[in-house]
Amino acid sequence: MKKPALLAILPNAWNGLWQTRLTDGTIDLIRFGKRPYDPPEIDYVLSFRPPQGLLKTLPNLKACFSMGAGVDGFFAYGDYPAEVPLVRFSDDTLSAEMAQYVLMHALVHHRGQRRFDAAQSAHVWAQAMLPRRTEDTRIGIMGAGVIGTFAAEMFVKLGFPVASWSRSRKTLPGIESFAGADELPAFFARTDIVVCLLPLTPGTQGILNAAAFAAMPAGGFVVNVARGGHMVIPDLIAALDSGHLSGAVLDVFETEPLPEGSPLWSHPKVTVTPHIASISQPRVAADYVMDGIAAFERGERPANIVEFGRKY
Ligand code: NAP
Repeated sequence: MKKPALLAILPNAWNGLWQTRLTDGTIDLIRFGKRPYDPPEIDYVLSFRPPQGLLKTLPNLKACFSMGAGVDGFFAYGDYPAEVPLVRFSDDTLSAEMAQYVLMHALVHHRGQRRFDAAQSAHVWAQAMLPRRTEDTRIGIMGAGVIGTFAAEMFVKLGFPVASWSRSRKTLPGIESFAGADELPAFFARTDIVVCLLPLTPGTQGILNAAAFAAMPAGGFVVNVARGGHMVIPDLIAALDSGHLSGAVLDVFETEPLPEGSPLWSHPKVTVTPHIASISQPRVAADYVMDGIAAFERGERPANIVEFGRKY
């Protein structure tokens, strides 16, 4: 019997995947660009962003697997075959790493650590620079999904006032829930540190914009770990330069790698990281793909199938 054939379309940095269950011989693993294939033989695709038009050339495609939690790359060209299930990666390791990143940057800001760094450089014992009170730093998480909720609950444990914003209303202990576009201004108005953990869809494109920043209290701080398309960079720079926003941490960009000429590299109020907030671990990702293929082969549907209409 023919083994299920998986076409893996991934950047070279994912070499760790080839030492996992993906290569245990259960499936026929075809690395895109490394060996030729006959389109009808392909059963499954694994990718972040398949090349434009490619999926339509695979007549027997049974399902696609996203290497990341976000699936915007599959919908980028508007050519995703609606009848093919798309499964997204979702795992506690991904949520935990993201929570580490978000908490680290929020705490550096909340505790004023940059000022203590400067004081150390000047050999100053700057004990008078007390950090803000915890209850004075209101955290706002955009996206109350798997990762957003995980991070929000960590902030609650540390005693911060926490709110989330999502499409549907949530009832989570200690987290004030805002829902829908009508409640977005009120969400921003009560938020000192906003963390974007939304999927990138037509409904969330450019959502971190001048109106959002103006609605935030003076001194607001922005963390974008979702997708570059959420952020309107000229609006961010204007809000930082006017002094209304106090800083931003950006892990994701519309063009990655961030171009050499971007003003973000050297902006004094911006921290740039190279899309590393939370990386899918190869072994865990391989288990998710292999278990998903096994489920489809048994005629079942694995967890985390994307709703085509919602695009997340
Ligand atoms: P998820 O479980 O699908 O959660 C998405 C959340 O966003 C849900 O709460 C959803 O609301 C909300 N939402 C979607 N569209 C909305 C809209 N138009 N208005 C208001 N709320 C909306 O996603 P996840 O697993 O938490 O992942 C979130 C995102 O994180 C991914 O899409 C990806 O882009 C990003 N990410 C980045 C990295 C990195 O390294 N930088 C790593 C992993 C993930 P409902 O609950 O009402 O449906």
